Amino acid sequence: MKHGIRHLFIPGPTNVPERVRRALNVPMEDQRSPDLPALTLPLFRDLKKVFRNEDGRVFMYPSSGTGAWEAAIQNTLARGDKVLMSRFGQFSHLWVDMAIRLGLDVTAIDVEWGAGVPLDDYERVIAADKAHEIRAVFATQNETATGVASDIAGVRKLLDAHSHPAMIFVDGVSSIASIDFRQDEWGVDLAVAGSQKGFMLPAGLSFLSVSEKALAAHRDNRPKMERCYFSFADMLATNDQGYFPYTPPTQFFHGLRVALDMLFEEGLDDVFARHHRLAEGVRRGVAGMGLKLQAVAPRWHSDTVSAIRVPEGVDANAVLKIAYERYETSFGSGLAQLSGKVFRIGHLGDLNAGMCLTALSIAEMALVDAGARIDLGSGVAAAQDYYRDRSGEATGSR
Ligand code: PLP
Repeated sequence: MKHGIRHLFIPGPTNVPERVRRALNVPMEDQRSPDLPALTLPLFRDLKKVFRNEDGRVFMYPSSGTGAWEAAIQNTLARGDKVLMSRFGQFSHLWVDMAIRLGLDVTAIDVEWGAGVPLDDYERVIAADKAHEIRAVFATQNETATGVASDIAGVRKLLDAHSHPAMIFVDGVSSIASIDFRQDEWGVDLAVAGSQKGFMLPAGLSFLSVSEKALAAHRDNRPKMERCYFSFADMLATNDQGYFPYTPPTQFFHGLRVALDMLFEEGLDDVFARHHRLAEGVRRGVAGMGLKLQAVAPRWHSDTVSAIRVPEGVDANAVLKIAYERYETSFGSGLAQLSGKVFRIGHLGDLNAGMCLTALSIAEMALVDAGARIDLGSGVAAAQDYYRDRSGEATGSR
């Protein structure tokens, strides 16, 4: 007989707040009712605030994030179009793989797993593309497999520096609504997010935020890929009235309403600050245990997920198994080439410092059980020292 809760410290799906869970629990309703737009139209409007996209629009697809990846490509590019991408972890690899499978002419720059979007290499390729043949530059803002965050504003800067007209595609699945993202300011044309990470919902809804330039690319006369389910045109024909070209997941919309309310009640900047603080505590905990992150330098540190390298001779998969079976806890696994070498703590969404301390404490036990020589409490103590509220000390009131 198990008691209490099973802890979920994976980088998505994240914990769904009770308020959101209750909002999801509504009777089925008529997706063509005259009432639906009163729910959906404000969602479209408010999603734009999260993406910081004033002039463009946001599409919602009943799919996981991968569907929005595909929608972005199919609606704006044609087979044979040249694109610039980089890969440095499982998810950036998969996006490159999709682009190749959809017939794009991909220049993919390989980067060590632990670093992020290679701005210098991008600049070299863009500078050499005098004929402006490259139609899009892709960037994974947060590589969830390695816990690496990249500089999206830097991609904008280098394109501007060379007056290059390529569109910017961003994978923000594990960053948007958790760490800073500014679509208009950074000139991002297509930004992908998923419901199950910073939006604190179950998996199953994806968001694609598009700029006016991306909509123009969708409309222009150049040939495009075939598309059907993800067609912008079909969405545009119905979304403005608050409806969808096929049966939408209306329960999700009630959950999304509350999730957005929660993000705005906290304030997006405070949401980002909370994620930074929680992440920093976890990083200090990792250092306190004497372990290293997969991210090779602080500039790449992700505020939503930490990929932690286990000591030599310890199997990270054993750590995961022990955490799950003995301590009722899920951590993220090491993906592809990182299998057995890292485990990941997801620290995004509906989370607080106490939960991060629990994660560190269970990680320590599982690591020791799996044969790691670390001192129990060393990571927790370092994180406690960081999280502790010292505000009372200055006034002597404690
Ligand atoms: N991109 C990133 C950065 C991700 O972390 C994930 C999933 O974890 C995906 C894309 C794929 O999204 P989904 O699993 O929602 O299709």
